[in-house]
Formats: sequence, structure tokens, C-alpha cells
Amino acid sequence: MYTIAPLFSRKFFILLMFLLSMDTFLFAQNQQGDPKLTEFYTPVPKIVTPGMTNDQPPSDAIVLFDGKNLDQWRAEGMDTTKKPGWIVENGIATVDKKSGGIVTRQSFTDYQLHAEYRIPENITGSGQARGNSGIFLASLGNGGDQGYELQVLDSYNNSTYVNGQAGSIYKQGVPLANPCRKPGEWQTYDVVWTAPRFKEDGTLESPARVTVFLNAVLVQNNFELKGQTLYIGQPFYKKHGPAPIKLQAHGDKSEPISYRNIWLRPL
Ligand code: MG
Repeated sequence: MYTIAPLFSRKFFILLMFLLSMDTFLFAQNQQGDPKLTEFYTPVPKIVTPGMTNDQPPSDAIVLFDGKNLDQWRAEGMDTTKKPGWIVENGIATVDKKSGGIVTRQSFTDYQLHAEYRIPENITGSGQARGNSGIFLASLGNGGDQGYELQVLDSYNNSTYVNGQAGSIYKQGVPLANPCRKPGEWQTYDVVWTAPRFKEDGTLESPARVTVFLNAVLVQNNFELKGQTLYIGQPFYKKHGPAPIKLQAHGDKSEPISYRNIWLRPL
């Protein structure tokens, strides 16, 4: 009544009652169907035994580093037989800047990845020269930083360009939040990587996509990459197939960071 009273003309009221009754009728119809028509029993998802904690590798994971050795890795560069120069001690692997990055011996396409890193407590430097490393989700070529880099950097209290801080897809994807812990504490990356697909003629069929949790906080939500993550210039795609993962040894002067507990599930 009052001010809305004119809306309730007789015709409008009849129409409203009709629509309400139709809705009730259709709802009742839906409840009367056979529920089995929308229930499926195959294919049955394979059984995967989860780790003791959510950080530990599940039964179907490829363990890339369990703290014992870097047998699953090689040194980056043209000589694909060269062993990594990184130091493994007390269950962790520490970057050796002189010997360069390390690359998985296996190649992958789509996968789920877990990795942990620690910026040293006594880290020095600023901007990009403070605990810089990176996870190349697909490392391309045998020299230089070709591929797609998920940035590793001390971004606890260290400003730099936002598409280059920890949690960024380097120079493309700004992280949705900054959940970095302070230097000296272990931090976790959980990544879902969908590799790009290419047509026979080398043109792009579908771009790479990535979802990333940093310390269990979503920082990349199904982000679509524009191409390889370049230091200079616009990103572009160049046809490739399955590729290894690389951990970057960045050339800055700050103290080297460490990694531990790295595992992957091919998808
Ligand atoms: Mg980096």
C-alpha cells in the first residue's frame, strides 16, 4: 500500500500470482525426476594416498628433492650431463651462483608442483637484488633465462616493480596479495601449471595458464600468460613441447637462498 500501491494494479497482481505458481510447479517437477539420470559411476578417480601433512608428497608424486641429493637435477647449460653445483646440507639445497641454475632431468607438460624456499635471515641488498631466484615452470633452451618464471624474491619488506615481486609471473602477472614471510622463515609455493599448446605450423593454439598459492594464499588465479617472461621487451610464444623445470641462480650479489621439499604430480 502507501507509495507502492499503484504498482499493484489488478493485471499486475494476476501476472505476479501466475509467475509464482509456475515457479512452484516447475520446482516440484524437478523434484519428481529420476535422480539416477545425473549420477555417474565411471571413470573412478584413482586412489592417491596423501602425505602425512599437506606439504608432504602424495603417493603418485615425482619427488624432485627430498633433502638427500640432487640426482633429479642437472646444471643448466649446453652440457646436459653436468651435475648441479649447489650444496646439499641438512636436508636443504642452497643456490650456488657460480655454477648457475639447476634443471630437472625429466621434462613435463601439465603438473601440480610443491616447492619450499627460504631467504637467508641475514639477506642484504634491495629491489631485485635481494634474494632473487625463480622457478622456471618450463625452462626453454640451454642457456639464459628462457621460459616462464614464477618469481622468487624477498618481498617481505622490499619494494620493487609489482610484476617482479615474489608471487609474480615475472613482468606479466602481479600477485593478488603479498603473503611473504620474513627472511629466515620457510615459505611454500603450490602451483598448477597448464602448458601452452601449439599448432603444427608453430602458432599458438592455447596459452599457458597458472594458479599459484604462496604460503597457502592465492596469488595467481588461473592466470593466462602472454608468452615467455622476458627481462626486456614484450612477451611472445615460441613453439615447444614438454620442458624441464629450472631453479634460477640469479646474478645479484645478495646471499644465496635455499630450497627444500620439492615434488610434482604430472596431470
Ligand atoms: Mg628471478
